[in-house]
Amino acid sequence: MTFTPHGKHLIAGDWVAGDDTFASAPAFGPAHDYAVGRLTDVDRAAKAAEAAFWQFGYASRADRAAFLNAIADEIENRGAAITEIGTRETGLPAARLEGERGRTTGQLRLFADHIAKGNYLDRRFDAALPDRAPLPRPEMHMMQRPIGPVAVFGASNFPLAFSTAGGDTAAAFAAGCPVIVKGHSAHPGTGEIIAEAIHAAIKRCDMPAGVFSLIQGGDRAVGAALVTHPLIKAVGFTGSLAGGRALFDLCAARPEPIPFFGELGSVNPMFILGSAMAARGDDIAKGWAASLTMGAGQFCTNPGIAVVLEGDHADAFTKSAQAALSATAPQTMLTDGIAAAYQSGQKRIAATQGVRDILTTTCDQREATPYLYQTTVQNWLDNETLTEEVFGPLGLIVVAQSPDEMRAMAQSLQGQLTCTLHLDDADTTVARTLLPILERKAGRVLANGFPTGVEVSDTMVHGGPYPASTNFGATSVGTLSIRRFLRPVCYQNMPAALLPADI
Ligand code: NAP
Repeated sequence: MTFTPHGKHLIAGDWVAGDDTFASAPAFGPAHDYAVGRLTDVDRAAKAAEAAFWQFGYASRADRAAFLNAIADEIENRGAAITEIGTRETGLPAARLEGERGRTTGQLRLFADHIAKGNYLDRRFDAALPDRAPLPRPEMHMMQRPIGPVAVFGASNFPLAFSTAGGDTAAAFAAGCPVIVKGHSAHPGTGEIIAEAIHAAIKRCDMPAGVFSLIQGGDRAVGAALVTHPLIKAVGFTGSLAGGRALFDLCAARPEPIPFFGELGSVNPMFILGSAMAARGDDIAKGWAASLTMGAGQFCTNPGIAVVLEGDHADAFTKSAQAALSATAPQTMLTDGIAAAYQSGQKRIAATQGVRDILTTTCDQREATPYLYQTTVQNWLDNETLTEEVFGPLGLIVVAQSPDEMRAMAQSLQGQLTCTLHLDDADTTVARTLLPILERKAGRVLANGFPTGVEVSDTMVHGGPYPASTNFGATSVGTLSIRRFLRPVCYQNMPAALLPADI
């Protein structure tokens, strides 16, 4: 099935062309022209979102759940066309996009179930104490309320699950917030067809048209205008540290600052303890190579760093990782820009003093092949440049002389999305001294596994201290992510007739 995009924005139910266009840069197949987002588009979408809030924010949970399920249905109805345009735009294999589509519809349905249960409202009650001395206490109720229109910026590497109808949009809709998506310039056609699905669900469920708008990019000013628009009350963002930080700073500098929930980058270190390394270093090396190269390394949870204890077992691990990585075929990267950034990141690591080449490879411009380097903890501590994420299949083995050095390295880490321990029973004593450090650094701490593959569930935390995210109290994956778009309101001494129906 071939999908031919028309290239328009969807603003409050209308498909809107622009004065200027930009051309997409697909991995293969024809480019298409898309309307460049304008400040007038942002203003119109924001005003429509605010108007829609007065209906949508007060719709019943059952109606919002039906809307979420209808979006999932409409996405499934367009499944083949979504895969077709998505593979062309991103170069991701069809099977990967089909899996991601299932994750996207699964997220929408999970949120429908989640709000139906109502626990997320965190309803609390203090009974009146009229006879309390010296002062009586009034009756008080508390519950979570939606915050208003939310702006969403998706990432290039998950064109479905972290984009137009991805986790941020699903969580905001579930909370009762209208959404304006700033389309990602790496997959504008995929964004358009998903917007069509949401548009169809809005009509099916009789929701207000302003509940959703998609404004294509093509000009960074449109993103800046969106986060600084006075009617926008929060921003969900998944992407680079540089882009996230720029938009975060704009949110903080507004006359009314608003929360910016940015999920940014991470090097996701793994600490391989002595006994585990001796028992199964070869298996860990092969598992690491598979995790590192998955999706051409274009995952925010890509485990870029392996910290090992020096010795023969670590040497054998290095050889196994080198062998496993050198068997990896080149993979197409998501955009020309990401491919260029990967090459420059690789050169930065290779040029750092005290870094040894273990595996170097070559490939075409928009492709990626793995690289493997080795250094010492001391050198890591001396070179901040080694701590920065390289978005692609590049691994760095950091050799520690002792568990003390491993702890020093752990202490030096910036905020991470994940940290991993590989351990056996005999490693428990060392692990007990590392875990308290790692849990201060990361949103998710794993044992004996690999961090790629983020479960969408009640317990998931996909976030972490800066720069993994801009808001360490939040997650962008899992049901807890709804919290970002809610705020508690206390109703004191309020007549029952005025209390929200959910109380
Ligand atoms: P990106 O270049 O930061 O782009 C993300 C979005 O922000 C795009 O819509 C982009 O607009 C916009 N944007 C970026 N800088 C901007 C600025 N200064 N002003 C206004 N808008 C701006 O990120 P990406 O290429 O999509 O994703 C790759 C990066 O994301 C990697 O570093 C990766 O680690 C990280 N990532 C993190 C997670 C996570 O969950 N933490 C998940 C996936 C990826 P354009 O469309 O115009 O480019």
